Amino acid sequence: MTRQVKVEALVLYSRPLGEGDRLLTLYTRELGKISAVAPGARKMKSKLAAAVELFARGHFLLYRGRSMYTVTQAAQEHQYHAIRQEMKLYACGLYLAELVTKAVEENEANPAIFELLLESWKHLEAGRSSPVLLVRYFELKLLDLLGYRPHLDDCAGCGKQRGAVCWSDQAGGILCTDCGQGDAEAFSLSRGTCALAQYLLKVTPSRLVSIRVDEEQHKELKRLVQSFYRYWTDIGSIKSAAFLEEIT
Ligand SMILES: [Zn+2]
Repeated sequence: MTRQVKVEALVLYSRPLGEGDRLLTLYTRELGKISAVAPGARKMKSKLAAAVELFARGHFLLYRGRSMYTVTQAAQEHQYHAIRQEMKLYACGLYLAELVTKAVEENEANPAIFELLLESWKHLEAGRSSPVLLVRYFELKLLDLLGYRPHLDDCAGCGKQRGAVCWSDQAGGILCTDCGQGDAEAFSLSRGTCALAQYLLKVTPSRLVSIRVDEEQHKELKRLVQSFYRYWTDIGSIKSAAFLEEIT
């Protein structure tokens, strides 16, 4: 197996290491999530410096070591500067990066997740849609790509499609009033929020700009998504979630 690999990557995490290196978590189109060292990236005149910062997108030439990759060359394609400059965007962008880091295993390629993160950072930077709605959009899409698509079209218990609904983590979707009575943890969900979640799962982020969401829907959607994550995934707590909460 060749030990040199070329990848396209998004920098999810970058921290100083030793004298002048950086330790990175990259999400690559070809290999999924990987850890890599960028030697000398913090030294003056390092050609790697710009390409290995958080929120950078670039092409990397890597050397595959026993437990980690080493960056030998890197060409920055884009740096999402606007995300770094505005606190709210920064909090959202950081949260998306951390969520991906926690949600996926190392060395499992998933080009759709790569595209999702890339498109989401792009839209965050463009600033045309609500950053918080973009976060919810991202969470729902990521669930779907991880194989946990919420069941929202009809009652997950009996298949009926009428009346009020509630959300059930156990059922992984909505339940009608009758079926909901058998689940003590289920909580009510408005038809509007249910339709909003369905819509978010279907569209590309460019459609978010035309969606108007009231405060109640924001609250309901957040509760649904977070509850679903807690029940079905073992992602655990996300450090930047508290920061995001504070800022937004
Ligand atoms: Zn039912």
